[in-house]
Amino acid sequence: MLKPIFAANWKMNHGPTDAREFMRSFLAHYPRDTDRTVAFFPPAITLHAVAEALRDRHEILLGVQNVHEEGSGAFTGETSAGMARDAGARLVLVGHSERRHVFGETDEQVARKCEVVTRAGLTPVLCVGEKLEEREAGLTEQVVLRQLAAGLSKLEKQQAGTVIVAYEPVWAIGTGRTATPDDASAVHAAIRAGLKERVAEKAAVMPILYGGSVNRGNAKLLLAAPNVDGLLVGGASLDPGNWAAIVAA
Ligand code: PGA
Repeated sequence: MLKPIFAANWKMNHGPTDAREFMRSFLAHYPRDTDRTVAFFPPAITLHAVAEALRDRHEILLGVQNVHEEGSGAFTGETSAGMARDAGARLVLVGHSERRHVFGETDEQVARKCEVVTRAGLTPVLCVGEKLEEREAGLTEQVVLRQLAAGLSKLEKQQAGTVIVAYEPVWAIGTGRTATPDDASAVHAAIRAGLKERVAEKAAVMPILYGGSVNRGNAKLLLAAPNVDGLLVGGASLDPGNWAAIVAA
């Protein structure tokens, strides 16, 4: 059994002031020695404040929600993987559904981002997930496996084996609708099989997180489902008390 990963995606919430307050409150009660891994994905502008708050808590991971697919240059408003690492990030969300569907990010961009992220020495958290109409048309596995293959397509086998995957059905994100543990588990098993084709036995130890309306009430059951190795949480990660309860699930 892998050490479960609890990842908080704050999206466009919590500036540095709120983040410092959150960390004061959360860290006061969060033990150093646990059987789980916690990761925070604050907005890029808040990264430094969170890195400072985690200065002596290296067991807690820090990441950014997105990077640009180029290493540097005239890309106003963007962040590169190298800069994210310099600022303290160890992980990068790549291909989150809001990036894909609100900002029009393509499979090709997702692949390039996975490449620049691994090249910078960071770990991509490759997000995949089907839309409601795709689920209803019976296309869930096809969509998810296409996104997975595309995301890993520019990585060497050895690099591909270091990726964390997050299954986040688009219809479950921020909607209050969650996949049942059985449904999540079935898709995670398909993802694991897809990974196995690509990286052979390494697939057995690659973390596959579930995300989409996870909260303190459903976290434990989702985490108990076979092949669910952790949770990626948006809305319910914004309050330190709620987050602490989820991490304790
Ligand atoms: P949610 O978001 O928990 O608010 O549904 C999850 C995510 O988008 O990562």
